[in-house]
Amino acid sequence: MTLSIVRNAPLKSLNTFGVAANAATLITLEHEAQLPELRPALAAEPAPFVLGGGSNVLFTADVPGTILRVRLRGVRIVSDDARGVIVEAAAGEDWDGLVRWSLAQHCYGLENLALIPGTVGAAPIQNIGAYGVELSDVFDSLDAIDLGSGKTATLSAADCAFGYRDSIFKRPGPNRLVLRVRLRLSRTAPARLSHGEIGQALHAAGVDNPTPADVADAVRQVRMSKLPDPARLGNAGSFFKNPIVSAAHAGQLLAEYPGAPNYPAVLAGVAARKLSAAWLIEACGWKGVREGDAGVDARHALVLVNYGQATGAQLIGLATRIRASVHQRFNIRLEAEAVLLPTPEGWGP
Ligand SMILES: Cc1cc2nc3c(=O)[nH]c(=O)nc-3n(C[C@H](O)[C@H](O)[C@H](O)COP(=O)(O)OP(=O)(O)OC[C@H]3O[C@@H](n4cnc5c(N)ncnc54)[C@H](O)[C@@H]3O)c2cc1C
Repeated sequence: MTLSIVRNAPLKSLNTFGVAANAATLITLEHEAQLPELRPALAAEPAPFVLGGGSNVLFTADVPGTILRVRLRGVRIVSDDARGVIVEAAAGEDWDGLVRWSLAQHCYGLENLALIPGTVGAAPIQNIGAYGVELSDVFDSLDAIDLGSGKTATLSAADCAFGYRDSIFKRPGPNRLVLRVRLRLSRTAPARLSHGEIGQALHAAGVDNPTPADVADAVRQVRMSKLPDPARLGNAGSFFKNPIVSAAHAGQLLAEYPGAPNYPAVLAGVAARKLSAAWLIEACGWKGVREGDAGVDARHALVLVNYGQATGAQLIGLATRIRASVHQRFNIRLEAEAVLLPTPEGWGP
């Protein structure tokens, strides 16, 4: 099967914001056997944007270059011994599908990451995390191809340099396409309930000794009660990252607002505090605000939503105003968690 290459391709159905935009070229990679065709196809456009499920992207305008959509499929158990179960999944597999599959195989460790939208290949890019667990907690290794040189390499967790919603893939360097990810799961992992909400949901359901499947169910239930379903209301989950500030800066804020949520964190190797971006945004009065079809979700201030026909420009305009007001009031500069393509002025690194 040859590579699918489409010119002036519509992207509305390929992003969970449901924003209308076009890409000059859209290439879809379905099988690894198509890789030899890829480099010649990219010769004219050497820096494509790699797209998975489009659940962490805002197309702020039409994309003048090439988008390379990854739809590689396949999941298997590589090894199963006393050290754990190594599960390998191709980059185009649906993340939540993998969570369900692993539970069905009695391989545990992904429960807290249930229902996160998107693909397996994107999971390492921002080191997805939820309810006290990050991908890095279960990560074994991945294989990626450098789209510039055509060389494939295996990267360990140390190579990936995972951080909070961060990894080597977000820093300047080779344009890598993740081909497959290996995770180290367990046959016996205890439930991870450090995040209070999940424990509370299980307690409310009368579950005292939760199985991993119970935890996954509780995570799904909590997520559905808090986050808008992109199938009904366009969004990309948390639009901003929770800011990490120095302990001194956090101290000033907490002196004025003792109730502001804050958590231990590390900033440039020094103990710091992570603040809640949702709290900061809500404190500036943005929760539930709607400007045309662009808005801030009424239940979760961190989630920007598209009520129907919002454009990328309208959504980034709203985000820019939110960021300016948080900066003015708290002297904290919010960073986007979502990838902005093309990168608008003022939002670069
Ligand atoms: C309702 C909702 C809830 C969410 N909740 C969470 C949450 O709890 N925790 C969390 O961490 N995230 C969350 N997200 C964000 C999103 O689900 C994750 O970031 C997810 O990993 C994105 O996957 P994707 O396939 O859609 O990636 P895309 O949005 O397509 O791409 C995201 C980034 O990954 C890169 N990329 C994608 N595939 C590959 C590949 N194969 N190789 C190299 N680079 C690649 C892209 O270039 C881009 O930089 C949420 C999103 C939504 C809509």
